[in-house]
Amino acid sequence: MKVTEYYEKANGKTLVSFEILPPLKGSTIHQIFDALDPLMEFKPPFVDVTYHREEFVYKSMPSGHFEKVAIRKRPGTIGICSAISMRYGVDAVPHLLCGGFTKEETENALIDLNFLNINNVLALRGDARAFEGQFVPEKNGHKYAIDLVRQIMDMNQGIYLDEQVNGAHTDFCIGVAGYPEKHFESPNMEADIINLKKKVDAGASYIVTQLFYDNKKFFDFVKACRAAGIEVPIVPGLKPVTKKYQLNSIPRKFYVNFPEELVKAILSAKDAAARTQVGIEWAIMQSKELKAAGVPGVHFYTMGDSAVIQKIVEAVF
Ligand code: FAD
Repeated sequence: MKVTEYYEKANGKTLVSFEILPPLKGSTIHQIFDALDPLMEFKPPFVDVTYHREEFVYKSMPSGHFEKVAIRKRPGTIGICSAISMRYGVDAVPHLLCGGFTKEETENALIDLNFLNINNVLALRGDARAFEGQFVPEKNGHKYAIDLVRQIMDMNQGIYLDEQVNGAHTDFCIGVAGYPEKHFESPNMEADIINLKKKVDAGASYIVTQLFYDNKKFFDFVKACRAAGIEVPIVPGLKPVTKKYQLNSIPRKFYVNFPEELVKAILSAKDAAARTQVGIEWAIMQSKELKAAGVPGVHFYTMGDSAVIQKIVEAVF
């Protein structure tokens, strides 16, 4: 079923969904199952699986030189989606990136997904690679997520890259990313929302947000989106903060702010267990308020910490 149909059929009830990362190369699918098994009691209608493009590393060679080598540390997004659907009978939503893909490779990936009966995708641009100052698309790849949305919508109408192909119509439901604290490259929130509206006008039918720790930012964002004419479901994304180092690593990676009250509580917690408890309680407080406000769903970034997510969901849903 399509993600949007789940929200429609929920009739105002707030749904819970989860997002997982593929395990590091060399691990088995059981790592995914171990993370998801305890979360399945909450009956998520769908589970997202992130995509991780290749990174370049410099390897020291026997000659003494360094060689630039491309490695993908977390492959397997499509295979994991298929394994999740088979094991749990829920929909799995692969993230699909512009970065690292030519249009041809994107088309082939979409054909694979269609054959596997995976009909939901989250269409994203992806970030710049570590050594590149800014996002660089592949030669003959997409520069912005909207271009990826357009390609998927073309395939939904039977339009393939090869004009000779009179192709089958796919039926993908497309989600896109939104940023309650603005995407870090955008000059301002207004410009970012204009670009978000363009993705929706191009065919995206729901939005999942970047994580945030201050619900007011989310509520203001939704208000601004509605004022701009964006009418699709906007689903808040949450990730509990449970460790001291995350007070710096999360803002650095996701360009979000922590409320001072949360920072103080984390810093004054007496040990690691107390810090985790602070993060759990904060996420419970956020989830309860979001649910009371009638959000269509809460999307939890599990990032390998199922036990923490389990406690939060148990307390709220
Ligand atoms: P876009 O929508 O293309 O926007 C990127 C920037 O360009 C924004 O500042 C936007 O305002 C601007 N822009 C858009 N269109 C135009 C235009 N036509 N002209 C000028 N400017 C424009 N990354 C991964 O690598 N793997 C994942 O699995 C993954 N999952 C994610 C899931 C969620 C819910 C979110 C919120 C993010 C995820 N990301 C993931 C991170 C994402 O790839 C980055 O945030 C990336 O920098 C932007 O992606 P986007 O799809 O929002 O890009």
